[in-house]
Amino acid sequence: MKKIIVAIDGHSSCGKSTMAKSLAKSIGYTYVDTGAMYRAVTLFAIRNGMFGTDGSIDTDSLSSRMNEITVSFRNDACGRQETLLNGEVVENEIRGMEVSGKVSPIATLGFVREAMVCQQRRMGQEKGIVMDGRDIGTVVYPDAELKIFVTASDEVRAQRRFDELQAKGDSSTFEEILKNVRERDYIDSHREISPLRQADDAIVLDNSNMTIAEQDAWLMARYNETVNS
Ligand code: C5P
Repeated sequence: MKKIIVAIDGHSSCGKSTMAKSLAKSIGYTYVDTGAMYRAVTLFAIRNGMFGTDGSIDTDSLSSRMNEITVSFRNDACGRQETLLNGEVVENEIRGMEVSGKVSPIATLGFVREAMVCQQRRMGQEKGIVMDGRDIGTVVYPDAELKIFVTASDEVRAQRRFDELQAKGDSSTFEEILKNVRERDYIDSHREISPLRQADDAIVLDNSNMTIAEQDAWLMARYNETVNS
């Protein structure tokens, strides 16, 4: 069967990675979480003191050290994907609120996006990938055979992220998470370079009232339609 590229974009915390991972597993494709790549760069900047107390970023220092940042992925013993920053597993750290609060400003920087997009295009050279993010169907793979744009209400998205973080023992409140989700959406949609927007040929999915099983089935149906067309 022909291999394709599946590009899944959309708002923060709307379940893109859950559905992307599930599809990739079912059809034997590689899953690439591009948000994790921007999060890992953010963690590198935090650890190296590149954020001022006012939230400003030392962009000179970050741009001169981009070549020291390698982001990779591997599966843990249970088959769950983990993100590595320079060989160190940073999966938990990059999901916490400190990184979530700083990642969108990092993702506005042209030199960061250029480096990440270059790596992302390399990962999809052989096709057979499901990639999720904000600019996959518009910038990284404008020719992707299947493009999905996912959204859900702010409250539903914040609740999902809240449940996820609580399960990991994070003490962030629902209000903090809702504020973060809204702030990231605003910055992601209004930045100058590669803003979050729906590609003209993307299929929109509002999954506010869908279960995970329903959204997985929906995506699998879109995949089958695409490869059989
Ligand atoms: O997908 P996730 O919510 O983990 O992404 C974290 C942040 O990384 C987003 O809020 C956005 O600022 C940035 N991002 C991006 N482009 C992508 C993926 C993520 O700008 N392709």
